[in-house]
Amino acid sequence: MMREFEAKDGIMQIGGVSTVDIAEEFGTPVYVTDEQRLRENYRNIYGAFSRFMDTRIHYACKANTNLAILRVLEQEGSGIDAVSIGEVKTCLKAGFSPDRIMYTGVNVSDRELKEVTDLGVMVNLDSVCEMERLASIAPGVDVSFRITPGVGSGHSAKVTTGNKGAKFGIPLDQVISTYARAKDLGFNVKGIHAHIGSGGQVVEPFMDMMEVLIELVNEIKNLGIDLEFIDMGGGIGVPYRPQEEEMDVGELAMNLTDMIQEETDVKTIVLEPGRYIICDTTILLTRVNDVKDAGVKKYVGVDAGFNTLIRPAMYDSYHHVALANRFGKACTDKYDVVGPICESGDYIAHDRVLPDPQVGDLVAVYDAGAYGFSMASRYNSRPLCAEVMVCDGKADLIREAETVEEQWTRQVIPERLRL
Ligand SMILES: *Cc1c(COP(=O)(O)O)cnc(C)c1O
Repeated sequence: MMREFEAKDGIMQIGGVSTVDIAEEFGTPVYVTDEQRLRENYRNIYGAFSRFMDTRIHYACKANTNLAILRVLEQEGSGIDAVSIGEVKTCLKAGFSPDRIMYTGVNVSDRELKEVTDLGVMVNLDSVCEMERLASIAPGVDVSFRITPGVGSGHSAKVTTGNKGAKFGIPLDQVISTYARAKDLGFNVKGIHAHIGSGGQVVEPFMDMMEVLIELVNEIKNLGIDLEFIDMGGGIGVPYRPQEEEMDVGELAMNLTDMIQEETDVKTIVLEPGRYIICDTTILLTRVNDVKDAGVKKYVGVDAGFNTLIRPAMYDSYHHVALANRFGKACTDKYDVVGPICESGDYIAHDRVLPDPQVGDLVAVYDAGAYGFSMASRYNSRPLCAEVMVCDGKADLIREAETVEEQWTRQVIPERLRL
């Protein structure tokens, strides 16, 4: 089931703080993250797998790279899945040691590979070409390989990554020759990795992927390479709708670890959950600026658009919405919740029943922690918004809102055009 929130005097609360107070103190739009929930989500997923075998959780930080959020996960003992040098450096800044970070880039430059390996971060290779390039940049380092398992899963075709012919990973028929070549090149080959996609809600594709990985592990063993870990990637979905079922991570963990322990000598499972850990920790609070009856449709115009949260516009994703300042009130009519961006595709929610929204009301957008702020943009010259963390009844600013002026600081007007 989707996460539920408490109300106090008709006002939605998060982490023991009133959403109305947060909006007043920090302005809107604002992302609000519940620290306690973040810790709980980490412990849930780690606990589900570590009951059965040695487990490493590598939080896929592209979902959300706020430094305060990374600090919480560093304290919890998490590792990191990073996909760029920017993410690697951000996680080092947040206190992760290089050995807790694995870098899984795709189509990355020699320069980036050098920077990553110079920092002591392990590379998970995506192609034969990348392996050959790395051999001359950082010979003999620890590596693993991302393979294309031929199994895809995800909430949208745009985030399905493991299917045959995908741009990601070593094609199945080249995997064994690639491991043999890596050994010849003198790399220290540690593991095997696959990531089937993001937001899958069923266990089966993960089992199908694991079957493929296990067969490969045993063929790779015949080359004289004993792998230390199997990395099953991320992609565990979460319920975005009120009545939607959760994936049973206990069952997922039991099935996958069973397969590994029965059929291989591999001792460690690695997972890279992003969405699962961060999604429901965070709501987006946005103020109603305008209401409009357009005849065939009624609109609630808020101050967050696809510049703030792009998932509805980009993936047709569902995010639950509620009026935070009249929480749980009886609903009157159906509305589209739309933003301030000058495009028809700019929306937060379609056809939602809400209790007679008025100018000045506060809309809470649920499950905004994953791929929310991290995909935000400055489109329409709207500054990036603030982020707040709540814990035990206290709210802390964890990112100041940008200013319009900051958008000009890197721009240069040639002399001949100056004012
Ligand atoms: C995006 C990504 C993940 C995380 O996906 P979620 O759906 O957020 O769990 C994990 N591993 C890799 C390599 C990724 O690119």
